[in-house]
Amino acid sequence: MIENTKQLRTYSVMLWSSLVGLIVFTVLTVLAILNIFPGPQILYVVIFAVLTFVFTAGFTLSLKAHHDQKQFVQQLRVENSYTLGMDATFYNLDAFKNRVNRLYRKRSNRDKLQYVIAFTPTAADISSSANRNKILTDLNQRLAKFLSNLFSRENKNGFLERNNIYAFNRGTFLIYCFTEDEKYPNKLVATISNECFRLVNEEKIKIWVQPFFGIKAIKGNESVTSAVEDAMLARNQSEKNYESFTYFRESFLNRDYTGGEEITRALENNEFIPYYQLKYNIKEKRFVSAEVLARWKTPDGVKGPGKFIEMAERSGLLNAIDLAIFEKAIKDTSDSLKRGRRTLPVSVNFSLYEFFSRRFIETIVGTLKKYQVPPTYLEIEITETTSQVNKFLSISVIKKLKELGIRVLMDDFGMGYSQIESLRQIPFDAIKIDKSFSDKILTDEKTKTIVKYLVELAHTNGMEAIVEGVETKEQVEVLRKLKIDTIQGFYYSRPLPFDEYNLMIKSNTFEKEGNK
Ligand code: C2E
Ligand code: CA
Ligand code: CA
Repeated sequence: MIENTKQLRTYSVMLWSSLVGLIVFTVLTVLAILNIFPGPQILYVVIFAVLTFVFTAGFTLSLKAHHDQKQFVQQLRVENSYTLGMDATFYNLDAFKNRVNRLYRKRSNRDKLQYVIAFTPTAADISSSANRNKILTDLNQRLAKFLSNLFSRENKNGFLERNNIYAFNRGTFLIYCFTEDEKYPNKLVATISNECFRLVNEEKIKIWVQPFFGIKAIKGNESVTSAVEDAMLARNQSEKNYESFTYFRESFLNRDYTGGEEITRALENNEFIPYYQLKYNIKEKRFVSAEVLARWKTPDGVKGPGKFIEMAERSGLLNAIDLAIFEKAIKDTSDSLKRGRRTLPVSVNFSLYEFFSRRFIETIVGTLKKYQVPPTYLEIEITETTSQVNKFLSISVIKKLKELGIRVLMDDFGMGYSQIESLRQIPFDAIKIDKSFSDKILTDEKTKTIVKYLVELAHTNGMEAIVEGVETKEQVEVLRKLKIDTIQGFYYSRPLPFDEYNLMIKSNTFEKEGNK
């Protein structure tokens, strides 16, 4: 029985060559019988007859192989119709590998960057949709069609057929690409995600569906199998962290990694604490709120998120840190209110995990009640990828938060794809323009134009425009002219521990007298 496509190819070569051999030798035998050749004809007859017999035997065997081949193709069909709901013969891992290897052998491809991208559209079990599997199969089928169109010769979108191979294997899409553009995987991932969301929208599938991507960059002639495995590991990482995509890192292979225990211990010892960074409203000339930023207090000093977020994500504990920081920030706010201090709203960062968890709203409301803090003292910052993930769910969660009187801010605005569209659809209260824009605002005219446009965009949609990472007075002046509402950055204040933050809002040089 044929088990893979390599055997399949060998058998079909065998079949065709023995058929040709059979015809040639039959003709020669007939010619020998007809006395065409010089010398004793009987010798020719015997030789050609024996060879004809050998080839007939070979041909018969090949016919049997041909039958097996048909069965094999049938088996692939069954597998594909099972996993993809599709009558396709070549979407198979083995065929995929062979095709990749063939493409790799092309000289022009050897110097190119290569990537394996793995993705699986995943439906959350948030809504108890009984036909979840049917929806996914249907969606996969449509995505398969979309990919074959995307990579077709006629489609002039830069995703050329000759640079991409895709396959569907046991519920996961695999794409292998050769490219000269480092950003290619990001563009491809964004295109596919958007199509996935569009399909979900179009079909009015009222459940949360998200394609999680894993990307593996390949150096040299790496085995396709291990590259696929690495891409899958990265894909699983995306799902764990509710990230749209994750690039493979060597550390994913380190299975006996103990970061999880360290974080768990730190959580038990209350080592994660909130720092506060002020936001200054230019028009009101006063501080209007503070962003809550997580810090890890260790015997070696206070560590920033750069030192633990990745570790926490990897061990699936980022949500536990988020919730711990959130609760402490609400407790601090409650203390300030009780003591009659000046108290500003706090903006808390949440990663996707909680935002889409069933109990998110419950937890928020419960904590506010527990510490008797009015909802207007809370703002929530979510990154743009969060809101992209699923419009229905984002909109409904954000609406609920707003009904409660909690403001919702879109963080890191300007970093991702097609955020402008989501800005129109999702009712954010404010956008936070990313630090990368502040960095270039003095030196780059184009950046200035973009920021001006983003501010207008926010204002026409009734949203506040906030800019992050502002470090100098010159930047503040430029941003003021661009009609930015609120500024956050080291120029006004670094993230501060609670006590220092309280001193800062009690007395500082930035606020207009009498406005405090
Ligand atoms: P973010 O939400 O964009 O937070 C702003 C980051 O910019 C903070 O870095 C802040 O310290 C830094 N920053 C603010 N102003 C300036 C400036 O003028 N110059 C410079 N160079 N940096 C400035 P931080 O505290 O290291 O946090 C990094 C990221 O970690 C945050 O980015 C946020 O995405 C994440 N993060 C922090 N705390 C939490 C948390 O409690 N939960 C979650 N999920 N993520 C958090
Ligand atoms: Ca933030
Ligand atoms: Ca940010």
